[in-house]
Amino acid sequence: MKHAKPGRTLTNIMHELSIAMSIIELAQEESHRHGDVQVSAVHLKLGALSGVVKEALLGSFEMACEDTPLKGARLVVEEVPVLIFCRSCQTQRPVSSMQLFCCAECGAPSSEVVQGKEIEMVALEIEEWDRSPV
Ligand SMILES: [Zn+2]
Repeated sequence: MKHAKPGRTLTNIMHELSIAMSIIELAQEESHRHGDVQVSAVHLKLGALSGVVKEALLGSFEMACEDTPLKGARLVVEEVPVLIFCRSCQTQRPVSSMQLFCCAECGAPSSEVVQGKEIEMVALEIEEWDRSPV
C-alpha cells in the first residue's frame, strides 16, 4: 500500500517528490535484501545538470519518508560537477561556466557531457542490530 500525496502545495516540487519516492523505493528494496534492516541514511550523487534542486529534494525526501519504514532516515546528497570531453585537450575537463559549456582549460566549446546528469544512489547506511562490541 503506497501513500502518494501529490497536489496541494506540492505542485512546484512534484519532480523532486517523484525522484524522492523512487529513491525510497530503491532503498526499501535494498534494505529488504539485507533482511529488512533499518536504513539510517541514503547517499545520493546529484549531477549539476540533473535538473533537480537539492533543497527541494531533501524536503521531498523527508515528506515522502513519513509513511515508510525509512522514516527518520537522512538523505546525504553529494553534488557532482559537470565534466565535458574536450576534443582539443583530448580528455575530460570541467566546464568554464554552466551557460557556455566550454573547456575550463583551453576554452574550446563542447557538448559532450560525460558527467553531471546523474541521479544515483551510491550507498545506504544501515543501523546495526547490536551495537555492543563482540
Ligand atoms: Zn580543452
